[in-house]
Amino acid sequence: MGTTVTGLDVAAYRVSTDHPEADGTLAWSSTTVVAVEAHAEGTTGTGWTYSSAAAAEVVRGELAPSVVGADPMDIPALHERLLRSVRNLGRAGIAAAAISAVDIALWDLKARLLDMSLPALFGRFRDAVPVYGSGGFTTYDDATTTAQLEHWIADDGVTQVKIKVGESWGMRPDRDLHRVALARRVIGAERQLFVDANGAYGAHQAVRVGRRMLDEGGISWFEEPVSSDDLAGLRAVRNQLPVDVAAGEYGDHESYFERMLAAEAVDCLQIDVTRCGGYTSWLHTAALAAARNIEVSAHCAPHLHAPVCAAVPNVRHIELFHDHRRVDALLFAGTPAVSAGHIGMVLDLPGHGMTLKRADAESHRVA
Ligand SMILES: [Mg+2]
Repeated sequence: MGTTVTGLDVAAYRVSTDHPEADGTLAWSSTTVVAVEAHAEGTTGTGWTYSSAAAAEVVRGELAPSVVGADPMDIPALHERLLRSVRNLGRAGIAAAAISAVDIALWDLKARLLDMSLPALFGRFRDAVPVYGSGGFTTYDDATTTAQLEHWIADDGVTQVKIKVGESWGMRPDRDLHRVALARRVIGAERQLFVDANGAYGAHQAVRVGRRMLDEGGISWFEEPVSSDDLAGLRAVRNQLPVDVAAGEYGDHESYFERMLAAEAVDCLQIDVTRCGGYTSWLHTAALAAARNIEVSAHCAPHLHAPVCAAVPNVRHIELFHDHRRVDALLFAGTPAVSAGHIGMVLDLPGHGMTLKRADAESHRVA
């Protein structure tokens, strides 16, 4: 008898934000983490996604039955079983988030069964990955924005930061420009300033506001200037502004990213390991981008992205997202450290090195 996956445990935890938060097109007051533990031979692998508690039910009802009893070494077979099990549910969105959490847990399990770190199992191109500070919510007043930017620079050593723009579906361009100018003053002339409109602008508006953000604030990265579903609009903005256009954070499968790349919609492709189908699909997608000479950036989930981003040459950076940093530290032990603008690798522990703090997490449990 070979080794088999004996079970998946899943739980959902909800953590309130430290301030009210909003971007150009959404406001929120909490983050829900759906955590999966995959078991084999008394060893446990851990993965998670940031989604709805409904993703936990998809894991219980569809995904667990599809992988229990299979060999945890055979990730390609396990991943394909996960994809096939949600055919009738629809893969995009909640199902893809659930698959991502399970795929990450299975990779962590495999590394632990081999007593290897995940960076060692994937193999390394680099020992630490550049990160950029990300938050700068439209709900922040100037003092809060300033304090956050100063914290990233002083405590994390970042040289790249990102704030949200497109406030109220693009109805507050004057405040967007005010906040961009504020951020530039706080970070100084040399550091890079990124903006994320979360699809709030139309294409012409994005070009008009974007040109002023470039001239007055020196932005170098314009994320989702228009909806990421509007590939022609992304391409139009890209062609009219000498600023890197980025998108891809909602991608649920290699085919999604291939369409975005084929449309020449982005200068840098964002991939989220907690949405795209886990480490398996993340690696496939980075290769799709490499084939077109396009760099990739890890969207959110900084701690989970560290091992896979160390493995891939065409990685530009990881998004050090305020909410996920805070939530991960509450719920998981062993998160990798950030210093001098980079996130380090955990090499002296098996897997990605992180485990669920079950007792601490219990008060946040919602499913
Ligand atoms: Mg974004």
